[in-house]
Amino acid sequence: MIVFGAKSSQIASETLIDRCPNCRMQANIIIHIIQKFGHICWIPIFPAGKTAINQCTNCNQVFNFNEMPNSLKIVCANLRKQTKTPVWVFSGWALAAVIAIAYVYVNKQREINNAKLILTPKSGDIYEVKTEEAQYTLYKIEQVQGDSVFIHYNNYVTDDESGIDNLKAKGDTAYEAEVAGFSKAELKRMFVKGEILNIIR
Ligand SMILES: [Zn+2]
Repeated sequence: MIVFGAKSSQIASETLIDRCPNCRMQANIIIHIIQKFGHICWIPIFPAGKTAINQCTNCNQVFNFNEMPNSLKIVCANLRKQTKTPVWVFSGWALAAVIAIAYVYVNKQREINNAKLILTPKSGDIYEVKTEEAQYTLYKIEQVQGDSVFIHYNNYVTDDESGIDNLKAKGDTAYEAEVAGFSKAELKRMFVKGEILNIIR
């Protein structure tokens, strides 16, 4: 489940002595600068402004900017101005970039690996295949003899590429008993044409 929302976090604080508007005492007043931010699944993605809240350490009363005496307002406004928006409010983007780079890298590695495997078919290799009808199925290599590769077709097809994992989960019994013969060159042609999508060894 993807959760969107807004959160806030303290990014600075300062303590000063001033007259509390609540208890009327000269007391330590703590100014908290609060960063608001939008998040996806609690990972910050953008800043949504800063606010200041104060707390009197004598009576513990918390008050917002509008409730502060003017002297405090000035200090607060300055502190809020000086406190930079932290970089971590954009951390969702950095994470997305890392995931995108990792995805591209993994795909590239898979392509390189597949290009090697297609040249040396081996008994037990499973090919993820896109059929002429734009459906997806699996081939399993029974044996290789010289230039000939003998393959079991899977009994099942799926309309959606993401359904291939379900076909794999059906296991060895989901393949036809008979074998069909291919030449290595034929298989390579299928790979180049994008009909063999992936090879599992
Ligand atoms: Zn007070």
